[in-house]
Amino acid sequence: MTSSPDTNAEAVAELYGELSEFHERICDSNLHLGYWDGEDDTSSFQAATARLTDLMIDRLAPDKGQRVLDIGCGIGQPAFRLAEHHEVEIVGVTVSCRQIARATERARELGLENRARFERVDALDLSYADGTFDAAWFFESLIHMPDKGRALSEAARVLKPGSRLVLADMFHEPDQDWSTLHPTVTAITLDAYRPLLEAAGFRILDVQDVTPHILVPDPVRVSLRAQMLEHRDEWLRIAGADVVNAMLDPEVNTFYTPGLGYVLITAERV
Ligand code: SAH
Repeated sequence: MTSSPDTNAEAVAELYGELSEFHERICDSNLHLGYWDGEDDTSSFQAATARLTDLMIDRLAPDKGQRVLDIGCGIGQPAFRLAEHHEVEIVGVTVSCRQIARATERARELGLENRARFERVDALDLSYADGTFDAAWFFESLIHMPDKGRALSEAARVLKPGSRLVLADMFHEPDQDWSTLHPTVTAITLDAYRPLLEAAGFRILDVQDVTPHILVPDPVRVSLRAQMLEHRDEWLRIAGADVVNAMLDPEVNTFYTPGLGYVLITAERV
C-alpha cells in the first residue's frame, strides 16, 4: 500500500484494529449505523444495520456479472450481503490489515471467496487501472478521509463512465465544530457533498437526509446495554473501559453526537 500525506490511514488502521472484535460481536460485523422507522421501531441494532445495507444495495442496483468496488469495506459484512443479493464480483479495500484478514477468512467461511476479495489499499491512492469497476460505494468511510476530493476523484477514475456511486456518510450541521470529535474523522456539511462530487466527475441522482432514521430508539439502547452488562468483564477486555463505560451510562448516547446528520447519496460517473 502506498501512503500519502493527505491520508490518516495509519490512525484509521489502528482504530479499527483495536475495535475489530467489538464490531464483530456487538454490531454483527457491520461497522455502520442502523436505520429505524422511528422511536416505535424496536428492531435490534443488528437488524437495523442490515436494513441500512439493504438501502445501499437498492441504490447501487448492480447488474449480474458487474465488478463492484467497496471503498472502506470493514470486515466485509455489507459486501457479503451484496454478494448474496446480486451475482456480482466485489473488491473491498481498507487500510486495516486486521480487517483484510478477517474479511478474507469470512469470505471463505461463507463460500464467497470467488466473488468477494479484500485488499489493503488506500482509497486516496487506488491501485487499479482506469475504468476497472462498474459500481462503487463509500459506506460510512468517506468521513475518515481528509482529502475527500481526492478520494472521490480516485473512485471516478477507476469507474467506467455511466457507473453508479453510492455514499452513506455522516455530516455535521453548519453551526457545529467537529474538528475535535475524533482524530480520524473529518466531517463536512451536507451542502459540501454536491460540489465535491461534481468536481470529481459525478452527476448527483439523489440526496436523502436520513438523520431521524439513524437515531437508536431508547428500547434498543436499553437492550444493547443489557447485552453488554451481562458480559461486562469480557467487554472491558475487548473494547476498553472508555467504550464500555460510555455504552453502559444511560445518560450517554454513544451512537449520537449533537449536530450529527446522516446522508445517502446516489450519483453517476459522467
Ligand atoms: N463499510 C464498512 C466499514 C465502515 S468503517 C461497513 O459498513 O461495515 C470505515 C472503513 O473505512 C474501515 O474499514 C476503514 O479502514 C476504512 N477506511 C478509512 N479510511 C480509509 C482509506 N483512506 N482507505 C481505505 N479504507 C479506509
